[in-house]
Amino acid sequence: MIHTFTGPMHSGKSLELINIYKKIYRKNYVMAFKPRCDKRDLDEIKSHDTEFSIPAVYIDDLSEIKEHIKGKNIHTIFIDEANMMTGDVHELVDLSVIYDIDFYIAGLNLTGRQEPFGIMGDILSVSNSITIIPGFCDQCNKQAEYSYYIGTDSLDRIIPGDEMYRTLCTKCLREKLISGVKRRVLK
Ligand SMILES: [Zn+2]
Repeated sequence: MIHTFTGPMHSGKSLELINIYKKIYRKNYVMAFKPRCDKRDLDEIKSHDTEFSIPAVYIDDLSEIKEHIKGKNIHTIFIDEANMMTGDVHELVDLSVIYDIDFYIAGLNLTGRQEPFGIMGDILSVSNSITIIPGFCDQCNKQAEYSYYIGTDSLDRIIPGDEMYRTLCTKCLREKLISGVKRRVLK
């Protein structure tokens, strides 16, 4: 089965993975992966909300998973920041259906410009369960569904831990977008 946790930045997606990992008794049947670009926590999945972490292996592409688990008796796989990875999600379906491996995946559903984030759309399509975890608005504390890019760079890649992103509720996002449109019209 493929279980995916998604939502905006700072919503506690990694914490969900850690809480599931903590409950698993046979940790030698577990492997965890994270993207190479996430250098915040070295080779482990961490969350702001707990000292506990999951030892993880860096990969760029989903196709690397098979190489890493070859010859090992792996029953459960965790993937954090999956939105930063590349690859064909059929790799996940294959490992889930043919090899009976359970996946717990976390990643941002949307970019800082509210577009589907990389392979996350495909991952959500092949997931057996999807949990959308809201965050809390950086401006007004309301439940928040969006990550918003406050920089001027045209590059729209959320780098984990990047300070140029805010978590916003619909109302605060609307205000940002409308003021942005007004600025563009005035130019
Ligand atoms: Zn707000």
